[in-house]
Amino acid sequence: MNSQVRPKVAVSSCLMGEPVRFNGGHSRDRFLSGELDPYVDWVRICPEMEIGLGSPRETLRLERSSRGPRLVTRKTRVDLTGRITSLAAERVRVLDVDGYVFKSKSPSCGVHGIPVYAGDTAVDRRGRGVFAARILDAFPLLPVEDEGRLNDALLRETFVERIFAHARLRAFLESDWRARDLVAFHSRHKMQMLAHDPAAYREAGRVVAQAGVRSREELAADYAHAFRTAFARKAGIGRHVNVLHHCLGMMSDSLDQARRADLVEVIASYQAGRVALSVPATLLRHHARGEAAEYVRDQTYFSPYPEELRLRNHVPA
Ligand code: SF4
Repeated sequence: MNSQVRPKVAVSSCLMGEPVRFNGGHSRDRFLSGELDPYVDWVRICPEMEIGLGSPRETLRLERSSRGPRLVTRKTRVDLTGRITSLAAERVRVLDVDGYVFKSKSPSCGVHGIPVYAGDTAVDRRGRGVFAARILDAFPLLPVEDEGRLNDALLRETFVERIFAHARLRAFLESDWRARDLVAFHSRHKMQMLAHDPAAYREAGRVVAQAGVRSREELAADYAHAFRTAFARKAGIGRHVNVLHHCLGMMSDSLDQARRADLVEVIASYQAGRVALSVPATLLRHHARGEAAEYVRDQTYFSPYPEELRLRNHVPA
């Protein structure tokens, strides 16, 4: 069993197998509805069904206009932009989630590369679904992906890591926390944040240093912003290597020379793209003793999400 907080993740309903598509079918995604499903609480949203379109229904597309792209039915030419926009505004008011997975290629839900038409011609292929655009504007630091991009191992790992980080933060801020708890929360995330964005980590640290001086509300808002900013930046190989060496440095006293050399070599292999991150991370955890073991055990860097998801097993390109 894992003791991770369960992220709440909004998802385009069709990706979870609900028969809500224009053709009466679904677009069930095996990773989302299979591997990830046991660890996540889904908030299923189909904006086209929620504004009263049935399934099956007429197909929609984006059309160019002076007011920006409009969402229009293909044959009967009904403009649905206002209804979808109002729905998005309602959702923005109540949406409290740790991430969102949108269906790709949809004029309502698509995040990237949706064609915008003028007449029969696609004049721009960089459009964004009308509903998705409103959500992204309202929550710029929310982890967001579409199911197509989640087929990429690194993007999948990054997204899953972020939703679990957001979930821990949400659970923490909803708890009856005190200043010292914020210090401990920040400390547990040190290595993970450093692997993403050292500057945002330091900014979060400055906020933590004001614990006990400023109000809880101000601290929570500023800390959440710095924390989410850190995780919005992709963790880089170089920063992972720095973190691994930092942890190795903490363990030096308790390691004999052979083990230390072994760890240095494995970190170098990761840096060179010969082994996955899970190899040095697992070995560090395995060799940690005494105080270092406690520190490593407590760091979210070493267990950013349930182990069963086995996401750190790809070799960096
Ligand atoms: S892509 Fe969005 S609007 Fe289309 S069926 Fe899926 S959830 Fe509904």
